[in-house]
Parts: sequence; C-alpha cells; structure tokens
Amino acid sequence: MTTPPVCNYEGSDYQTSFWDKGGREYEDRAEAIALQRLLPKSGRLLLELGAGAGRNTPRYLGFDRIVLLDYSRTQLEQAQQRLGKSPKYVYVAADAYRLPFVDGLFEAATMIRTLHHMADAPGALEQVSKVLQAGGVFILEFANKLNLKAIFRYLLGRQKWSPFTREPVEFARLNFDFHPEAIRQWLKDLDFTIERTLTLSHFRVGFLKRVVPTGILVFFDSIFQWTGALWQLTPSVFVKARIVERDVIPQYGQDDILSYFKCPACGDSPLIDKRDFLECSSCGRMWGVQDGIYDFREPIKN
Ligand SMILES: [Zn+2]
Repeated sequence: MTTPPVCNYEGSDYQTSFWDKGGREYEDRAEAIALQRLLPKSGRLLLELGAGAGRNTPRYLGFDRIVLLDYSRTQLEQAQQRLGKSPKYVYVAADAYRLPFVDGLFEAATMIRTLHHMADAPGALEQVSKVLQAGGVFILEFANKLNLKAIFRYLLGRQKWSPFTREPVEFARLNFDFHPEAIRQWLKDLDFTIERTLTLSHFRVGFLKRVVPTGILVFFDSIFQWTGALWQLTPSVFVKARIVERDVIPQYGQDDILSYFKCPACGDSPLIDKRDFLECSSCGRMWGVQDGIYDFREPIKN
C-alpha cells in the first residue's frame, strides 16, 4: 500500500495562523465568489477533499450532505467544533490516493488548495474521477506556476525554474505549482470536460493588500475572474469540470452512510459496522471510527 508522501497538517494551527490572522481575507472572499459561480446550487451528496478545518464547508450548504475528507484528524476535529456533529456532515480521515468510497457515489466534489500538496496529482485526480457519478461536477483549485510574478522573476534571472514548461514545480517540500495546460490534459485524460475556468487573486501583492480596502480588491478580483476563460496568469485558478460518461451504477442508500464506503486496501464493500470500527469481510482489515470521525489512513491492530 505505498502511495506518494502526504503533506500532513496534523496538529497544525493552519486555520488560525494562515486564514484567521494571516491577512488572507481578500483571498478567502474571492474564493467564496468563485465557488458561488461554479458550484451547483443544490444537490444530494458532495465530497470536500482537503476540507481542513471546514473553512469552505458552509459554502456548500445547498447540498443535503457533505463528506469532509482530510488526511489530518486534528483538522477534522477543528471542523467538527466549527460545524457541529450533525447528520449533514460526515468526517473522514483518509489518503487522497486511496479514497474509501464506492465508485460513482458523489454528485459533486471540491478540491480547494489541496492539489498544491500532491506529489502525484494525476493519481489524486483519478481517484476523484472514480467516485463521481455520471454528470458529476468537480470544482478544482490549483496553484498556477504560470503566474505574472513567476514570469517576471524568471525573465529577470531571479528564479531558476521556468514557468512556461508543463511539469509541476516543487518550490518547497510537498508544495507544488502546476501549469494550466498540464491540468487540462490530466482532466481530459480522465474523461472530464472543462466547463469554466476562473482566475483568482489578481491582486495578491502585499503592498496592494495593505493600502487598498479589501472590499475594493475583492470587487475588482470578482470582475477579473471571468478573464480566466481567456488566459490564466494568476497564482490561483479555479476549474469547473464534469464527468460525462460512467459505466458504473452505484449501489448505496442515501441515508445509509455505511453504504458509501469501501475498503481502501482491497476495494471490497460493503464494510461491516462493528460500532468502534468498520470491518472488511474480504481482507479482514479494521478501520477505526472514533468521536464521529471515520479513519481510513491505517487499519487498527487487533
Ligand atoms: Zn479489505
């Protein structure tokens, strides 16, 4: 069960240090607008990949139920505190390279500021394509290596890597920027059709963020987001993609959360509910369930 290394936010105060106190209000509000423009207004079941502490989750409330997935259990605990334990939310600690869901389960999936940490981005995207149903919508945010700052730095000789080539750049350990053309190709290879592209954070410049009121930056960013259809030169890009064809008819009950899951090790389903864990009748592995969080990262020991 070897998968690429995972960027783990376990024990991190990311929500507080980066979002709440990190001067990211502009980016946060620009993302809210993009999500409103791209996401279906309502639906049954949505998968939030890399949900973290649930910053974006309240933006998905048109959906009957939201599955929050993150590799870090402590991030999910923070999300639980923020959102509460309700049947509307299902908390799942799992590896994005081995999703514990049956094929064709979700009507929609979002992955915001998460692909950024994927050493094997096509592998993670393939997992998403499998768990979406026919017509399923995927909202993907990626960090764009072809951004104006990187282009200028490269042309001035202040940066070694080229923003113009298609391979991802790992500018810090497990932090990747991607070329828009590479993302489009990966999605196409997985039978996604891209319906819309928005560019975000046109004004992610420290000086502007200090001097210009946030509301004004957000207003102009919201207008400029549409230029994403023409070119993508911002550090953050949102894509709305749709899976058109599917050859599986998913077997699950809407209210039966157990029917959502498969064993991430051997792929068998359904799992057997043993209260403190879910057991795979095929390979015998046991997956922990504790304080409302399903944990599929490593099986529990006997
Ligand atoms: Zn199994």
